[in-house]
Amino acid sequence: MEIPSLNKQQEFTLASVTDLTSPSSSLSSSPVVATFSCVNEVKELRFQESKSSDGFSFDLSSTQLFKLGPLQFTCVSDGSISSAKEKSSFSRGVVIKFRDEKDSKEFCDSFEECKKDDAVKQALPNGTVVSANKSKFDDKIEAASAKMYFHYYGQLLHQQNMLQDYVRTGTYHAAVMENRSDFSGRVVVDVGAGSGILSMFAALAGAKHVYAVEASEMAEYARKLIAGNPLLAERITVIKGKIEDIELPEKADVLISEPMGTLLVNERMLETYVIARDRFLSPNGKMFPTVGRIHMAPFADEFLFVEMANKALFWQQQNYYGVDLTPLYVSAHQGYFSQPVVDAFDPRLLVAPSMFHVIDFTMMTEEQFYEIDIPLKFTASVCTRIHGLACWFDVLFDGSTVQRWFTTAPGAPTTHWYQIRCVLSQPIHVMAGQEITGRLHLIAHSAQSYTINLTLSAKMWGPGANQGGILQTSSCKLDLKEPYYRMSQPQVYPTQEPPAQSQDIHIHSDDLEELELLQQNANAQL
Ligand code: SAH
Repeated sequence: MEIPSLNKQQEFTLASVTDLTSPSSSLSSSPVVATFSCVNEVKELRFQESKSSDGFSFDLSSTQLFKLGPLQFTCVSDGSISSAKEKSSFSRGVVIKFRDEKDSKEFCDSFEECKKDDAVKQALPNGTVVSANKSKFDDKIEAASAKMYFHYYGQLLHQQNMLQDYVRTGTYHAAVMENRSDFSGRVVVDVGAGSGILSMFAALAGAKHVYAVEASEMAEYARKLIAGNPLLAERITVIKGKIEDIELPEKADVLISEPMGTLLVNERMLETYVIARDRFLSPNGKMFPTVGRIHMAPFADEFLFVEMANKALFWQQQNYYGVDLTPLYVSAHQGYFSQPVVDAFDPRLLVAPSMFHVIDFTMMTEEQFYEIDIPLKFTASVCTRIHGLACWFDVLFDGSTVQRWFTTAPGAPTTHWYQIRCVLSQPIHVMAGQEITGRLHLIAHSAQSYTINLTLSAKMWGPGANQGGILQTSSCKLDLKEPYYRMSQPQVYPTQEPPAQSQDIHIHSDDLEELELLQQNANAQL
């Protein structure tokens, strides 16, 4: 195969070319010739009817090729197309049909060769063939983190873990099926499709077409799974690639995704979700889910506090096989308290009514996720020692028929996210009615997670309250990427009926007093 080089051309005669963006200007009446050319370092792909001068060109630096079948490709440009009649800045796509597989393969090879000199080249088999520009994703995420991340999601066992979270998957299923009218006859994009389950839910709800976009090797499994469901498969196209890099031949009416991580924002996939919104969603399109909320409340948990402090005691040994370990005690202690604790806790550990911070997926910009600053204000329900801040999240599917919330609140059916707690190494003492203020400051980092800075302060209470001074302050810095998974630990908390909604949790001082007694007894035994 000859490689198109400076001022050289290469031609292919095609069976047909259909222009997706303006079918009326389709070139099909007589054989169409596709010509790769490189003139003065501008690389173009030109389509022209052999018997007329009508035609248009794609600038290859912003063009991608998708393989739809052995003889059929889609060629999409992200906004620089020129024809004899117009020069447009809109995206444009054509479906190309070849006469035989030899032509199709040679065309594909030429396309790749032409783009070889571009900054970044990715050859993705059986899906996206080439991406031209350096990815927005690669700019902000460390390569090592991304590699581990997509390796993780490329494994069936981890997808199974999510599928077996029936609270999660069942809520998505219900939200889609209850809102069929939002899906029926619509174009849907599944952002981070994984096994393809949400794409299939959308197809079951009557979607006209679903683009299942998945960056990890799971895309191949999704293809296999979807192919095994032939009634759905004809309306689903799996595209292997990152949302940030791929092109789609049409705009979507609906985005569906499960981009939530611990504390909602972990994994930084919400950024991908809003990038998908800006790149692929039509102006009045719907997002499933639509809104997310981070809920927070101070908690008291003497067991947990002692457990964490005890872990570092190992480094208090002065004669460990004749070695003094104490020089590392302070570092070890800090290390344990920089890990957010992930487990399911009893909501009766909460010592003030919770508050929440709204993240509207339809409005947030990608950059707004880089730093999330949440001022905190609570009123203690009881006299207690506060050990830190407990957090969980919920999301809303704002369907046209049914608005459904999915919650990961303590006391609600447990999900694979559990809840998360930031533990202070210095607890603060509060009286019932005392105001607690503070700040939860989340700063995104390039390992697809966040540094958490938490400060909690107890305000002056009683006769001095009007002066408004701060009595005690305690701060901690945690890495959301390094949680302490505590689920395997025996749970000492008695079971109880889950409250209907996180907002409805009422803290009874009786319960808390009982719990404090329990804790004091337990401490005495430790
Ligand atoms: N939708 C599936 C999987 C959810 S997990 C389900 O609900 O079961 C999130 C998936 O998004 C993972 O498979 C991950 O590989 C994929 N993903 C994360 N970031 C992505 C990106 N930038 N582009 C494409 N896929 C991405």
